[in-house]
Amino acid sequence: MADLQGKVVIVTGAASGIGREAALEFARAGAWVFGADRDTAGLKQINRQASAEGLRFSVSEVDVSLASDVERFTSHVLGSAGRLDVAFNNAGITGGAHRIEDYPVDDFDRVLAVNLRSVFLGLKFQIPAMLQSGGGAIVNTASVAALTGPGGMSAYAASKHGIHGLTRVAAMENAARGIRVNAIAPGWTQTPMVAANSRQNPRFAELARTAIPAKRGADPHEIAEAALWLASDAASYVFGQMLVVDGGMTIGGFEP
Ligand code: NAD
Repeated sequence: MADLQGKVVIVTGAASGIGREAALEFARAGAWVFGADRDTAGLKQINRQASAEGLRFSVSEVDVSLASDVERFTSHVLGSAGRLDVAFNNAGITGGAHRIEDYPVDDFDRVLAVNLRSVFLGLKFQIPAMLQSGGGAIVNTASVAALTGPGGMSAYAASKHGIHGLTRVAAMENAARGIRVNAIAPGWTQTPMVAANSRQNPRFAELARTAIPAKRGADPHEIAEAALWLASDAASYVFGQMLVVDGGMTIGGFEP
């Protein structure tokens, strides 16, 4: 397990799925975790779990697509803990599935705001906070859709390709200033987001599973571990990379 003793960590999308798992893992590794989400009930639930385990944990209701919310939340973390060492910018939505010509413009904008603008806003406020703290590490959640072109998912794929680009720019701008910025690209991961999509579209879900070389989706824990590693000092010479954690989904080629 990564050692994050004494670190102050932000996790967005902490109320569910990958973010929930990562927030608990960061805290179990010794960090003081500030979990952000817009889901009040989910935040209460994870807070109860964290206090039952005796973890150092705080939650805040935040809409990551709003600059005012992200700025207020980052100031709250600095005000409470006096520093910021790690941020996991992970909150996201998939949006609907439509061909580009049918994709509603407002839905496209919403997916871009929640998935991509949020990461820009996170970086914008976290970088100065980390500079004040003597450096840090940021991990952004992209997706295999940052490398591929899943039909029907134009907004999602555009937002995730954008996260890959933002990650590289942020890494370039901050490598010499003691802040490492990287991304993870999960494949098919068994979270509430994917369970809902699978119920809507069982044929696609079955197709996706059989097409994954590992023949199974990831447990959210397997994605959280990759985020923890990238955020920890064990990855001290990793800058601007996108770590793909996908059961082989993007290897390409065919089985013999
Ligand atoms: P999830 O739905 O279980 O969790 C996402 C969390 O983000 C939820 O708690 C939700 O309330 C929160 N959220 C959504 N919009 C928000 C907003 N505007 N402000 C604050 N919080 C908001 O989904 P997940 O599968 O755990 O997804 C986490 C991340 O992983 C997302 O960025 C997603 O795109 C990415 N991802 C997931 C998969 C997968 O297969 N599950 C694959 C690749 C990438």
